[in-house]
Amino acid sequence: MSTTTRESAVVGAVRTDLFIGGQWRPGTGGHTIAVDDPATGEVIAHIADATVADGLAALEAAHAAAPSWAATPPRERGEILRRAFEMIMDRIDDLALLMTLEMGKPLDQARGEVIYGAEFFRWFSEEAVRISGRYAVAPNGATRLMTMKQPVGPCLFITPWNFPLAMGTRKIGPAVASGCTMVVKPATQTPLSMYALAQIMTEAGLPDGVLNVITTSHAGQVMEPIIRDPRLRKLSFTGSTEIGKRLVEQSAEQLLRVSMELGGNAPFLVFADADLPAAVDGAMLAKMRNMGEACTAANRFLVHASVAPEFTARLAERMGALTVGRGTEAGVDVGPLVDAPSQAKVGELVDQAVGAGARVLAGGSTVGEKGYFYAPTVLADVPADARLLHEEIFGPVAPVTTFTTDDEALALANASEYGLVAYAYTRDLNRAIRVSEGLDTGMVGINQGIVSNPAAPFGGVKHSGFGREGGAEGIEEFLETKYVGIAL
Ligand code: NAP
Repeated sequence: MSTTTRESAVVGAVRTDLFIGGQWRPGTGGHTIAVDDPATGEVIAHIADATVADGLAALEAAHAAAPSWAATPPRERGEILRRAFEMIMDRIDDLALLMTLEMGKPLDQARGEVIYGAEFFRWFSEEAVRISGRYAVAPNGATRLMTMKQPVGPCLFITPWNFPLAMGTRKIGPAVASGCTMVVKPATQTPLSMYALAQIMTEAGLPDGVLNVITTSHAGQVMEPIIRDPRLRKLSFTGSTEIGKRLVEQSAEQLLRVSMELGGNAPFLVFADADLPAAVDGAMLAKMRNMGEACTAANRFLVHASVAPEFTARLAERMGALTVGRGTEAGVDVGPLVDAPSQAKVGELVDQAVGAGARVLAGGSTVGEKGYFYAPTVLADVPADARLLHEEIFGPVAPVTTFTTDDEALALANASEYGLVAYAYTRDLNRAIRVSEGLDTGMVGINQGIVSNPAAPFGGVKHSGFGREGGAEGIEEFLETKYVGIAL
């Protein structure tokens, strides 16, 4: 099969109607939304455009399915997840290609996301059968105290475009495991991976109504009535801090259980005693995974002044050697940014920093005439008030600044409204512990440029949100604790 025929076949196999109550159906307004390939700007598919009524129909389907799904044996729920995990892995090539076509990341990174996303199903298939309460004798001996864990009920999941599959499975996995039903709204720019997942979940035996997927060109209008509806019990959102804050306000009306996975501004600390080649390897991962379009992307490189020249030169050499191109092509390291506004914003941030005195050691401009490419960029001597040290860059740009003491490093690292993740390179165990304790973030990577792991609690503090996804903590977000007092 030729490359373009295979691409058309993979996209053509995805159902693009709304998935409500186990049925695929068009939006009641009769409209569709175009999905682009960010490497070419060309339309690759049209998806259904949900109305307010469609959104409420999806919620009703989740609500109607809730009692029987909550009563389904945990082992059965776990086995469905396990089967879905196997099916995703069997179809990894198609799912990775689909993701590259709608989102732009190179194929090997798309495969990495498919594996990472699938692992949440494997992890939570194992957690489904470990949900338990406790039994205790009251201190006065007169009664018995029993606690039980029950599913919170129907959930709404809203996910971003940067990890089209994994941001969904991180929520769907624990919801299925705990006996919750759900409505999922993937990002309009990258809906195909989620619709492909819905097909897999059906084949894996998930009952009708447990998972409902809708897409809409009017996210605010369609989501708000769902969030304000008493049938909903939980909202889990991954996306920008700006929208997250708005949704927290809306969720107050029904006092929903809320999880917010929001933006980041990760510092990457390199101490004088760091293993520099390892730090550069870590920096490449922390910066360049997903073209820098990750909430966990290293946004600020804070390097001890004594090693800064060597670190920066090595980083610039590695960044300058990366190949930029369409993610489907062999040998490509860096795909396009997701759209023209993202490309323009990255350019604006770099230009502002350079105008304020930063030196360009690699990149510093857009690439090509077609698509939304930006060159891997390293900036040295970045002034403290440059905008890109304070805003999420969401692009392949590494600004480097220096520090001289540990206290200064921590103060700089914590000088952000965000608090998702920080990275630190040092060979001194005591320093690693002191720094980990001192960082105002939900996660810390010591001598590693990636922290995401399905077995670990992912999440932030401050304007990066609250709630945890993954690990033993991940399923707690979907469970209520009920206490029963028993008189003897
Ligand atoms: P976004 O604009 O906030 O969009 C995220 C989702 O919210 C999309 O599905 C979007 O729908 C929907 N949405 C937009 N406006 C809405 C509204 N008024 N009401 C309800 N839903 C609404 O964020 P993004 O640009 O897609 O994603 C990038 C952001 O996500 C970054 O800030 C990044 O740091 C963050 N992120 C965080 C994590 C984490 O785990 N902490 C992980 C990945 C990404 P449409 O697509 O239709 O606009």
